[in-house]
Amino acid sequence: MDSNCIFCKILNNEIPSKKIYEDGDFLAMLDIAPATKGHVLIVPKEHATTMSDLSDEKLSKILILAKKIIEAMKKVHGFTDYNIIQNNGRLAGQTVAHYHLHLIPRYSVDEVSLWSPHEDDPSVTEEMAEQVRKYL
Ligand code: 5GP
Ligand code: ZN
Repeated sequence: MDSNCIFCKILNNEIPSKKIYEDGDFLAMLDIAPATKGHVLIVPKEHATTMSDLSDEKLSKILILAKKIIEAMKKVHGFTDYNIIQNNGRLAGQTVAHYHLHLIPRYSVDEVSLWSPHEDDPSVTEEMAEQVRKYL
């Protein structure tokens, strides 16, 4: 629990939220400013800022929960396509410093835009792959 963290305050019921699921490890709630209709956030009860800080135990459970919630959301909102997005750090667009997973339904007309790929990039080298492999 971080007393300055808005999601910790929600978890602690100091700030209201529209909860859709809760268990011992996670809370899922509607996003207050949804990217599309039905946008849900899954928030671990453990305070961790980024994925790097979250325990492997919680990480290994969260996608399974995301799938379960997405299937329920599909029945309600009638979408088939969706994005699972998770921002780590300010440069990546993280605005709430408590790890959370976005479940974003996609519709034939919506206003979500993700990154745009660049043309064949010469900076993508075999050496780059080799350097990362060394740490794995
Ligand atoms: P981030 O940019 O950190 O990946 O996402 C933060 C998300 O939290 C945003 O989509 C924002 O709308 C949502 N959010 C911020 N404050 C609150 C809040 O008090 N309640 C709820 N339900 N969502 C919030
Ligand atoms: Zn927190």
